[in-house]
This record gives sequence, C-alpha cells and structure tokens, in this order.
Amino acid sequence: MTFESLGLSPALLRALAEQNYTTPTPIQAQAIPLALAGHDLLGGAQTGTGKTAAFGLPLLHRLSKQTPGNGFRRPRALVLVPTRELAVQVNDSVRGYAKHLRMHSSAIFGGAGMGPQVEMFRRGVDVLVATPGRLIDHMDRGTVKLDAIEMLVLDEADRMLDMGFLPAMKRILAKLPRDRQTMMFSATFESQLKALAVEFMRTPKQVQVAAQNAIVQTITHRAHPVDVSRKRDLLVQILSTRHTDQAIVFGRTKHGCNRLAEQLEESGLVAVAIHGNKSQAQRQKALNQFKAGKARVLVATDVAARGLDIPNLPLVINYDLPMVAEDYVHRIGRTGRNGASGEALSLVAPEEGGLLRQVQNMLRTDVELVVVDGFAPSRAIQFNAPLPNPRQKAPRKPAHRPHGKPAARHAHAGPKQHRTGGQGRGSRSGVSGG
Ligand code: AMP
Repeated sequence: MTFESLGLSPALLRALAEQNYTTPTPIQAQAIPLALAGHDLLGGAQTGTGKTAAFGLPLLHRLSKQTPGNGFRRPRALVLVPTRELAVQVNDSVRGYAKHLRMHSSAIFGGAGMGPQVEMFRRGVDVLVATPGRLIDHMDRGTVKLDAIEMLVLDEADRMLDMGFLPAMKRILAKLPRDRQTMMFSATFESQLKALAVEFMRTPKQVQVAAQNAIVQTITHRAHPVDVSRKRDLLVQILSTRHTDQAIVFGRTKHGCNRLAEQLEESGLVAVAIHGNKSQAQRQKALNQFKAGKARVLVATDVAARGLDIPNLPLVINYDLPMVAEDYVHRIGRTGRNGASGEALSLVAPEEGGLLRQVQNMLRTDVELVVVDGFAPSRAIQFNAPLPNPRQKAPRKPAHRPHGKPAARHAHAGPKQHRTGGQGRGSRSGVSGG
C-alpha cells in the first residue's frame, strides 16, 4: 500500500516524500481512508505507531479542501493532548505535513507565556494543538473562539484521563460546534472514555493496531532483584559496562529523577532529566541534547516521557517499576521499534514484587530474574506484596537490611532466578571513576 492509494492530496504526498515516508503504517492504512470519508474514529494505538500522521494527514487534507469562512482565521481543527511535550511534537509533525499547504498550525500549553499565544490567535491559526488546562485559560479569558472547529482530535485520551483532565475535556467539548468530525486515539479504552465517545461522537468507526503488547515481541525483558538502597550502584554498573548504548531510565517521582540524573553525572555518565517540574524550555533542551547524542542517559518520569518522539533505543531501564502495569508497555515502547531488537531491564526491590507480578500478568510471560553478582537483595522478591494505590506517590523508604547479615540467596515460587556477573566484565570497583 502507498500513500497515493489512500487518496491524499499532492501537496501532502510531496511533504511525505520529503520526509521519507514511503509506506503507511498499519494504523495509518486503516484510519486514513475512514477519516477522509468523514467518519468519527476511535483509534486504538499508542505512540510510535505513526498515529500522529494517521489523524494529521486526513485532517489537513479535509481542511484544505474547504475554504474557511470570511474574516480572520479562527481555529478549524483542535487537537487536545495531555502534555506540553506532546503538544510541541504533534505541532511539529503537523507543520511538517502541512508544509506545502496554506495552513498554519500552532501549539498552546501551560508553562509558556500567555502573551505570544494571544498574539498567535490574533494573527489567525487553522490547526490548534493544545493541552486542556491552557485551552480553558484562553476560553475563560475570551482570547480563543472555538465556534469554527470542524475537526477535533483527542490524542492519548487515556493519559488525559489519568492526568485528571476529564472535567476540562468535557467543558471544551461542550463549547465545540456539534457538526464536526471527532477522532479519539488511545492505547486503551476504559469505560469513562467509552462513555465520552457515546456522548460526544457520532457512531465512530473503530481501528486498532495489534494488541497492546504486540510491540513487545522483539524485546527481551529482564529484571534484576536488588535492594532499593543499592539500585543506584547497580544502575551505574550496568550503564558503565555498556559503553555505547544510550538508554532511557524511568523513575517514579520528579525528585527521584532529578537526584538520579545528578548522581549519574557524579559517576561520570552524562545524564539529563525530564519531568513535570522542569520548564518547557528545560525539557526541550534536555530532549534535544539526548537526541543529538550529547547525553547518554535520559532520566524521565512516565508523564514527562509520554508521547515523546524519542528515537529507537536499544535499552530501557525501569529504575522503579511503574505503579500501573500499562505504563510498563508505554515505557518499553521506546525500544524495539520497527522490528529492531530491544532490551527492557527492571531493577526490582523485594517489595516491588507485586508490581512485577502485575507486569508479568500483562505481558503474559515470565520476566527472567537475574541476580547480578554483588547485588543480591537482602530478601527474596515478594510476589505477593500488596500493590500500591496508583494515585499515590511512591514511598521512598530505603530497604530495611538486617545489619551484619550477608545478603541472602533465595528460593521461591516465582519465575526462575539466575545469578550472573553478567552486565559486562567490570567489577564494582571499576564503575565509580571519571
Ligand atoms: P507517532 O506514533 O505519530 O509519534 O510516530 C512515530 C514516529 O514514526 C515519528 O518519528 C514519525 O515521524 C514516524 N512515522 C510516522 N509514520 C511514518 C511512516 N509512514 N513512515 C516512516 N516514518 C513514519
């Protein structure tokens, strides 16, 4: 299948050719014809599948076929996204696709000044990419009018829900013209999203790319049992013995990510952190440094990394296991793309056993446990450990270690555990220099 056969306009085809897109991805092949025909759409797809073009191309095609009404340009398409980074990224992609069209796309998000955004609305915009909170700010101030919206996209709708944007989304939806096309993209469709679709969409067609965990087929999953208090040393050892690989390291808290990046730097590893407490400019700078290969390690929280266009990486490390197993899939979606092989390593403290079990249930496979020499935890992984409340912040207590006792070897009913000197030949003494 080609993009030509999907019936996209020559101006779009030219832009795609310039970006070396030759073949539509599965979600594009399914979604584009339906969206071009004007159907509402529920798209089951996560980041890395090409979903931005799946909605961006038909959106631009359809808008460019109709001339806007008189007067200055009010937004005609609205793309709601959960995070600032995704707003920037979607806007960049849309601008790239619209390169040969006379259409303008802009992004608005919190953490950036209102002034330039107000000015942008005054000049006129066709495609508006927005985070819900900032859009509400503009609506309340009367700086944006949504009465000309013909197309609405809810991108990463599940994440917007996770982030508590449901009331904001409903407020926005209530202000949009009823006569419009709506597309909702989400990795999962839980009941609240289904209810939203019933209320605000017109008998949507559904498209789905392979089951959620199909992306993990080319990825090896391994977990290293280790006490919380030794995680950092183990991480440094792993990274130090894999000299070239860039890696993204996921942590649970903003503060923890910051501290970890600093500690990695102290160990001679160039690391940058992205999380919600950093300004937009800081996050973008960190991501650019990482993309340019100037930093070897990107330390990130789930929310900050969500939807980011991070290049295919050989290695994703879960410094903390995510509170929700689905986030594991999002995290490891950074590796093993397009059939490349990838590796997902998790540093698992005994008390994170319940989380690991949850991940295994979701992957429907055992994650191999490999004890790294010198890092055996003080007790076995507790697979029956209670699951934390996902809305709660992770406790940050250091693991209790009975003093004087050597780290115990353990046997239990969970998956097989191995010991290895394995993450390369370096002994621990060799990892802290530089
Ligand atoms: P997305 O899932 O929309 O974030 O896209 C993931 C990455 O795939 C982005 O870097 C896109 O530029 C790229 N991409 C999307 N569609 C195609 C395609 N048909 N051919 C090549 N690259 C693509």
